[in-house]
Amino acid sequence: MKTEWLRREVRQFAPYVVAPIRESRVINANENYANVFAIPSIREEVMAALSSYQPQIYPKPLADGLREALSDYTGSAPEELLAGNGGDEMISYTLHTFLNEGDTVLLHAPTFDMYEVGAGLLGAKVEKVRDLPGYRRDRKGLLDAIRRLQPKMTFLCNPNNPTGELLSASFIEECLAAAEGLVFVDEAYMEFAQEESVLPLIRKYPNLIVLRTLSKAFGLAGLRCGYIAADRAIIDEVAKVKNPYNLNSLTQALAAAVLRRREEIFPIRDGIVAERERLCEAIQHVRGVTVYPSRTNFLLIQVEEDRADELFEAWRQADILVKRYKDNPLLPGAFRITVTTRDVDDAVLSVLKEVMRRA
Ligand code: PMP
Repeated sequence: MKTEWLRREVRQFAPYVVAPIRESRVINANENYANVFAIPSIREEVMAALSSYQPQIYPKPLADGLREALSDYTGSAPEELLAGNGGDEMISYTLHTFLNEGDTVLLHAPTFDMYEVGAGLLGAKVEKVRDLPGYRRDRKGLLDAIRRLQPKMTFLCNPNNPTGELLSASFIEECLAAAEGLVFVDEAYMEFAQEESVLPLIRKYPNLIVLRTLSKAFGLAGLRCGYIAADRAIIDEVAKVKNPYNLNSLTQALAAAVLRRREEIFPIRDGIVAERERLCEAIQHVRGVTVYPSRTNFLLIQVEEDRADELFEAWRQADILVKRYKDNPLLPGAFRITVTTRDVDDAVLSVLKEVMRRA
């Protein structure tokens, strides 16, 4: 293949890398440990949806039934919502709707990679405001950057992946008021924080786009369902850009079925939050390890960089795969651990204690 065939941005494209999995305890992707289809009432709802399922018919382009279920859950109107194959697809569609080559995109760093990946592919200029020590977002720096750069799009991940930190809704309102461009607030983990969502503000701020996903608290990462909420005018434009049948009908039907039974899922979420606090507290007592407070279903921890290889390998030997940030200069010696069950967390902890005891 000739390199000249490629779009310029693709020639130097650094893709998002999904780690190969050999371990049986996989806590590197912030998945939910629970299979929600195994909950009897959800299973019943899912089976009923399957029994009337018609694979020969194209899906509804705007996922009407799912939109209704999402509207019931979020309180936004169906016309203020748009669903797709996970949050990733909605990030991509949104970028494709609004970005021209050379436009500025503002991020805080470190954060979820897909904003930079997507913006870079479109030839946008990515500007970053680094977190303050302790991985607290530089709120003043972000506001200053918005005012100074007036980016086409500003991304705020809330709570943030991988640091777990939550921004207040009032700070995000300051950003929305300061920005002439769009502010994209990624609330993939907001169900674990249970507060400070800006979703109700889409009627007040026509430049606000909120992202949510069913991959985390709802336990549907494999089904692929994410959605954005925004002013209708924004939803109409992103809907023009998306593929007509982007979201398959099976996902539309099953995601709606799960949403109708969401009350059954919230106790799982509450259990994960309690387990996160237990694990966080336990890690705080391990010498040589820093653990950052988190409002999500994961914890960011950090050790001296020269211990990181040994620790990662020790977890692997114990059949545990965590997320490592080996080549990220903003996250030296850092690991992200998805909080799952007490058993797995205890195994994670015991390896951590053992390796750090040897330090
Ligand atoms: N936003 C954030 C912050 C995430 O961590 C993820 C998942 N890793 C997503 C969006 C996208 O998730 P999905 O495509 O599974 O909905």
